[in-house]
Amino acid sequence: MNTQLLNPDKDEKAYEKAAKYILAGEVVGMPTETVYGLAANALDGQAVKKIFIAKGRPQDNPLIVHIADLKQMDKLVSFIPENAKKLADAFWPGPLTIILPKAECIPIEVSAGLDTVGIRFPNHKVAQNLIKAAGVPLAAPSANLSGRPSTTTAKHVMEDLNGKIPAVLEGGACTVGVESTVISLVGDKPRLLRPGGISLEQLMEVVGEVEIDRAIKEKIGDDVRVSAPGMKYRHYAPKAPVTVVCGDANKTAEYIKQNANKTAGILCFKEYMNVFSDYKCFEMGFKDDVSSQAKRIFDALRAFDETDVTEIWTQCPSDEGLGLAVANRLKKAAGFHVINLG
Ligand code: AMP
Ligand code: MG
Repeated sequence: MNTQLLNPDKDEKAYEKAAKYILAGEVVGMPTETVYGLAANALDGQAVKKIFIAKGRPQDNPLIVHIADLKQMDKLVSFIPENAKKLADAFWPGPLTIILPKAECIPIEVSAGLDTVGIRFPNHKVAQNLIKAAGVPLAAPSANLSGRPSTTTAKHVMEDLNGKIPAVLEGGACTVGVESTVISLVGDKPRLLRPGGISLEQLMEVVGEVEIDRAIKEKIGDDVRVSAPGMKYRHYAPKAPVTVVCGDANKTAEYIKQNANKTAGILCFKEYMNVFSDYKCFEMGFKDDVSSQAKRIFDALRAFDETDVTEIWTQCPSDEGLGLAVANRLKKAAGFHVINLG
């Protein structure tokens, strides 16, 4: 199969062509503000199966359903609690996925056998236009091979999926750069299942207390049942093993310098590039600029795969704001191999 890159800025039929693939039960790469997604008709179980095949995704890992109009949600869930309305009002369109009890029409392939479904209204014109052109909600996980760092440009998607899918829509580099926040509203209290583009602090301003799933901060064994199945897999990982060093940035730079092998790759804050001039080194933005870190980390983790580094060391932001999501992705890329310097 030849994968077509469809650019809506240059081809006025781009959406029509992509929507045609979707309605024929095929999968298409699409940009969102978080990361690129691999989209199929969420109401067509056979089409959704092709997403799992293209990515090599474990079948027990459910998909998020993307909508382009609030009213689209009504048919996809069996109940909309007050907190869902408040969150939608505050953060949609945007990088927030809300887990709710699913309606009958959601195929088992989307929910991976759970009785819930994750819904998101993305804030990206290309994604919205594709959903509207297809006229159906789109199930889409991140458009990377399973286990690899997520994709934040159409070029990344091509690297992972060229030849495996019919088309990718071009939409530029993702402006958020880490995946959506996932919050579950099916239990007694709102529960954060995955940190992402909307911070915990922002959620708490709208719904009050939010429980934090333990899979966010620690490694969960294969035998344990977790609320968001995706959280238990090694994820976002480049080929070389990663070690995350947390704590004061001067101390972590010093520690990495003392412990890294000559053949190591380093992912560091921009201020520290000169400290690591002897190493293959990529920067992830300035220490206090966590939104540029979010934009940079997947590209940098992928870039190490183009080098011959034998191990990767990375600095890490604190858990405040978007830092919780960046730190979570780095720790997951490291399989939770983390050194805490306090
Ligand atoms: P991805 O789109 O690749 O970022 O993966 C989607 C994430 O959302 C995974 O971590 C899933 O486990 C999570 N997710 C999707 N649907 C549900 C659901 N119904 N319940 C809990 N987590 C979900
Ligand atoms: Mg993913």
